[in-house]
Amino acid sequence: VDGARAGRNLWVYANESHIAGSPQDFVLAQFTAEQMRAAGIPQVEIQNFSVLLSYPLTRLAAVVAPAGAEYTAVLEEAAVAVDPTSSKPAPPLFHGYSGNGDATGDLVYANYGAIEDYQYLDSMGVNLTGKVVICRYGGIYRGNKVFQAEARGAAAVIIYSDPYDMTEPGEPVYPAGPWATNTTAQRGSVWLGNGDPLTPGLPSISSTPRITMQQAYDPSFSYGTPLPSIPSLPMSYGDAQHFIEALGGPVAPSDWQGGFNFTYRIGPGPVRARVAVTMNYTNATIHNVIGTVPGALEPDRLVLLGNHRDAWAFGAVDPNSGTAALLEVAHGLGRALATGWQPRRTIVLCSWDAEEYATVGSAEYVELREKTLFSQAVAYLNVDISVTGCPVLDPGGVPSFTQLFRQITPLLAAPPGCPASNASAPQRTLYDLWMLDAELDASGAPVLDASDMGTGSDYGAFLQHAGVPAMDIRFESEDGHYEAVYHSSEFAASARARSLSISAALTLSSLLPAVYDSYYYISHFGDLPGFPFIASLAQLWGLTALRLADSPLIPLHFTEYPQLLTGYVTSIAAAAQAANLTLNLSSLNDALSSFSAACAELETAIQQVGSTSDPLLLRRLNDRIMSVERGLLFLQGLPGREWYRHVVWATSQFDGYGSVGFSPILDAVRAGDASGAQYYVALTATIVYQAVDTIAAPF
Ligand SMILES: [Zn+2]
Repeated sequence: VDGARAGRNLWVYANESHIAGSPQDFVLAQFTAEQMRAAGIPQVEIQNFSVLLSYPLTRLAAVVAPAGAEYTAVLEEAAVAVDPTSSKPAPPLFHGYSGNGDATGDLVYANYGAIEDYQYLDSMGVNLTGKVVICRYGGIYRGNKVFQAEARGAAAVIIYSDPYDMTEPGEPVYPAGPWATNTTAQRGSVWLGNGDPLTPGLPSISSTPRITMQQAYDPSFSYGTPLPSIPSLPMSYGDAQHFIEALGGPVAPSDWQGGFNFTYRIGPGPVRARVAVTMNYTNATIHNVIGTVPGALEPDRLVLLGNHRDAWAFGAVDPNSGTAALLEVAHGLGRALATGWQPRRTIVLCSWDAEEYATVGSAEYVELREKTLFSQAVAYLNVDISVTGCPVLDPGGVPSFTQLFRQITPLLAAPPGCPASNASAPQRTLYDLWMLDAELDASGAPVLDASDMGTGSDYGAFLQHAGVPAMDIRFESEDGHYEAVYHSSEFAASARARSLSISAALTLSSLLPAVYDSYYYISHFGDLPGFPFIASLAQLWGLTALRLADSPLIPLHFTEYPQLLTGYVTSIAAAAQAANLTLNLSSLNDALSSFSAACAELETAIQQVGSTSDPLLLRRLNDRIMSVERGLLFLQGLPGREWYRHVVWATSQFDGYGSVGFSPILDAVRAGDASGAQYYVALTATIVYQAVDTIAAPF
């Protein structure tokens, strides 16, 4: 790997804005394919899908009353002289898949727009019908903020970047520092679904029937993820201050107070706000680039690596720091292939398109190849962002990767120039950088978990829909806790109580989908000169892939999985008790006991087989290893949102980023639905027994 080359490629990706479906998006697909071919990847193809995307035509947000408070929002990020791309053309601030409409109503402040925030408004008797809701970014996926507002009859939603979450007192804003300026705001999708909205569950190829736009707004045709029908817009704190300042009504609770120097009130009114959005909903062609290195001995077993390429604007950090790393992995594989090496299993390099809209490219790929992935996929290794900052290594993933990660991270040196940390332990290897902010098990060893692996990136379709073991790797800054917050499934207020630096984390996460996510930004606030962290991430990504592709026995292990799941049951019991909900978890505990025994037996079989070369014995054991994740799928899909099949990691219906751990049960608990929770306990137990059946030795 070569950090300098990674930096040059990153510059190519981030020099022009490249939203999905745009001409520049296709230029970069071709560039990616050329680079993979030049690196020596033997098979490279561009895979096209025709999908529904949406682009903004008109946007308006204004305070229309009371008299004297009238204000029209700017809704534009100011150009910054030192950042050359900030003055280049880019799509304006908008929400992907926003509804069309022109709504005027009394304004209501809804904190972070989490389910608990809306429940609080419900308990205060605040009727949202016809209201304009304003809530702040942070904590959860923005689409859930809009969904809950629409479900309560709101006419429009504004999601703004609050100074509390987006700045650090006394520290400079961009470009002097990484914090948000008074024009910074966050683009993003507000739809809860995955893939093309017009082909739910099916690939968007020419033979596939499309549902109508009308049906896309209907939960029964969209598997419970209808397109939002109300308009919504993102907004900077510079604009939002004019909306919130004059709100009346009750004083908002203390943890709803943000960073403006006035007391936040809930409303409704006397501020009346107008939000008008016209979107061009249109069919666009998107382009996945797929590079394949065929396996020598087991070509029918697939190790997949993926990163998305599309960005709302310039995307230097999200996603093209990852794209630059993907090309470094391609170069590494090409070098090895040139020496005559071939992997045992097939390695697939995927550059996805239209991730920002709804993980569209990867979801369509998974829906196209679903049956093949069921039988052939070993693992999916995602890198959405390779570096938001340094030096903390933040891997997330299903627990079967934990031991592999413990084995290989000590083998890789920390990037040269890695900044010293406050932590007492020296950081010589990537293991040390992982330990800076790792969750630890009872023995003090770091663990991976998938609780932030909802559908916030392209691992979603692989894990949630096809049951492929998935992980996601990135570097972040020490004050950032970026992953813990940006993809947090937790209600933001509780996360804030837990973390001292949540504001820093929210700031970084919120800066990224802005035009300031630029080559200048990553050069100054992301990586070090020469991009050693992107290079280091490529090494780790490549080595993980090689172990999975070349080890005769697939190096996934199942000691941590039952431990983690048992812990989640304890959390659910506590949550139910806190909510005064009676919940009997004994059937799930019994099922998990069987799951633990089956995993232990599989581990014993793995140890006993040692270094056998008996191909049939290896294939039998590898089949059992591959069956664990698939075994946890409810193939018919979760009731009412059938695209989601994984009973453990299904994305929370209250947060598109989070998967919590037994989310269906926990969601019902959070909604106060005792019988629903009990139903999901029984359903989950039954699926866990199915997993046990697939893991168990045949005789
Ligand atoms: Zn991304």
